[in-house]
Amino acid sequence: MVKILDGKKLSLTLKEELKSKFDSIKQHLKLAIIMPICDDASIAYLNSRERLCKEFNIELCVYKFDGNETTEELVELVKKLNLDDSIQGIMIDRPFPKQVNEDKVYEFLDYRKDIDGCSLISCGKLFQAQDCLVSSTAVGVMTLLKYYNIDLVGKNVVIVNRSKIVGIPLMHLLLKENSTVTICHSKTKNLARICSKADIIITAIGKAKYFTKEYVNAKTTIIDVGINYDENNKICGDVDQEVYEIVDSYSPVPGGVGPVTNIALLLNLLKTFEI
Ligand code: NAP
Repeated sequence: MVKILDGKKLSLTLKEELKSKFDSIKQHLKLAIIMPICDDASIAYLNSRERLCKEFNIELCVYKFDGNETTEELVELVKKLNLDDSIQGIMIDRPFPKQVNEDKVYEFLDYRKDIDGCSLISCGKLFQAQDCLVSSTAVGVMTLLKYYNIDLVGKNVVIVNRSKIVGIPLMHLLLKENSTVTICHSKTKNLARICSKADIIITAIGKAKYFTKEYVNAKTTIIDVGINYDENNKICGDVDQEVYEIVDSYSPVPGGVGPVTNIALLLNLLKTFEI
């Protein structure tokens, strides 16, 4: 029988576990969210984080920009938040507007507050397999795989994404788990053939229902990170539903990686106390 990797259920379980951990912190917690662009998607993501943080008594400080800001303006804000001792975590939403040099912004972000693991030091530590803050999306995917006991050792994992918050951190985390990792992207040739030989596929290309039957086999576990809207404006992933019938296991959209990513944000906030 096809196994569903239910992220919603997992997130509820993890929430209960985390409540006592947060209760034991006797400090007022504050998370800063910088929104370089404010569109419907980023506002929806903000709303879900607001609900979650409220449950955990975490104060959110939100800094919204209209997409016309400069690199220097973002750098100045990051520097100010770095120095603010009342703030434990800083999250900068993506994407950045075209005129902003995101590498420059991340260069100034304090790695000890870097909730999404994009600062230079976090990336360097990850590269060296050292303990560090890692993107909450990547942590979310790993948490889902581990909770559902998906064997990773020696498995062929194909990641279709090479971004800073998904593909690259996942590649490092999976190598640490002794998987054999292949990274694919928009210039990859014969994607369907590569994917169809994988034990595990992780998709995050942002294209609705792109992955169809020819990308998988009967033993495939497919993790769908993509968030898209279909022709009826309903949320959907990168994976077409026809795939669900023939694979070994899959994470649905909605209700798969998304809810666990939000919980990973809390895990990362706790981790700022250890870094
Ligand atoms: P991104 O920076 O735009 O990365 C997209 C990646 O997909 C790139 O590596 C791109 O290749 C690759 N790609 C695009 N079209 C492709 C194709 N036809 N074939 C193969 N590869 C292709 O986006 P992102 O920030 O990583 O986000 C990706 C998706 O994940 C989005 O749908 C986003 O909404 C979703 N997301 C979900 C969560 C969650 O918690 N569930 C969190 C973050 C993001 P190139 O590098 O060659 O351009």
